[in-house]
Amino acid sequence: MACEIVETEYFTLHTLDDGVFAAIAKPGQGAWSNAGIVDLGEELLVFDSLSTPSAGKELRRQAESLTGKKVKYLINSHYHGDHVFGNQVFFDTTIISTYDTQKLCNEKNSIEDLEKEEKEMKQYLLQLKNQIDSTEDNILKASLINQYQEMSKVLDDLSQLQIVLPSLLFEEKLTINGADRMVELYCLGGGHSPSDTFMYLPKEKIAFMGDIATEDLHVPIDNPVEFLSILQQVKQMDIDTIVPGHGSVTNMALCNTLIDYLSFLTQSAKEAIQRRLPVEDFIAAFEIPKKYKEWKGVNGIKMNLKTIYTYLQKN
Ligand SMILES: [Zn+2]
Repeated sequence: MACEIVETEYFTLHTLDDGVFAAIAKPGQGAWSNAGIVDLGEELLVFDSLSTPSAGKELRRQAESLTGKKVKYLINSHYHGDHVFGNQVFFDTTIISTYDTQKLCNEKNSIEDLEKEEKEMKQYLLQLKNQIDSTEDNILKASLINQYQEMSKVLDDLSQLQIVLPSLLFEEKLTINGADRMVELYCLGGGHSPSDTFMYLPKEKIAFMGDIATEDLHVPIDNPVEFLSILQQVKQMDIDTIVPGHGSVTNMALCNTLIDYLSFLTQSAKEAIQRRLPVEDFIAAFEIPKKYKEWKGVNGIKMNLKTIYTYLQKN
């Protein structure tokens, strides 16, 4: 399994196979999400660019000094800033995503007015700080503190942030053949975001999942039905090692945990709709099962319940 080789300010690098590395984010340091490095033989591929240019820069530096090779490709798993705000460091590589992810990066991430953006972020951080100070719940407090620290790092880098968009686009599947290694990119739809890509190394049986798989986190849901379907399809694949978008290196058990989580929330929402319980009452009365109580982003479960309830009502 994973073997820790390098500690940096932002992340810890683990070797998963000869020439395959996972960068596992350290909490609150400006990486925020995990990334991957793959030696294709003559050049490197990087999966996701972390949440700040500073962390992205360290990722590229480590990748190139570790292998003595240059990065040729950067993959963007989805449009969320914590996975793509390091893109500018890879401006001279081929940045790859789905058509939809590129479109969303362009629409949602572009900064038109830096001053306004900074002001809004500062206000948001202030709100978070007030919530941290006023909450008695230790799990919620820890989760808010982590969010506060990550957002502060993004704010620190905001004035130098440039949005660099992917230029090589695909729809469902893209295979990249290196001299020594082959990787496959899959987009089986959008569960966590409207378009989610994961990367599969068939020979090594390793998958870099982006936020389709996250550890002990109430990961935001965009489309509950597609999310479940993606996870069911991933479960059928021959995978030994899973690198989640957030959390530590693990295996297929994580997929099962997430399938259970999504199925449970979906079933609860279905029952509430059948009982004609209004969404606010459903959320207020919802008892978080013990096994999910210590998951991070505890406010997220309420958002997820609302998303699923609304989705089921419409469909
Ligand atoms: Zn995400």
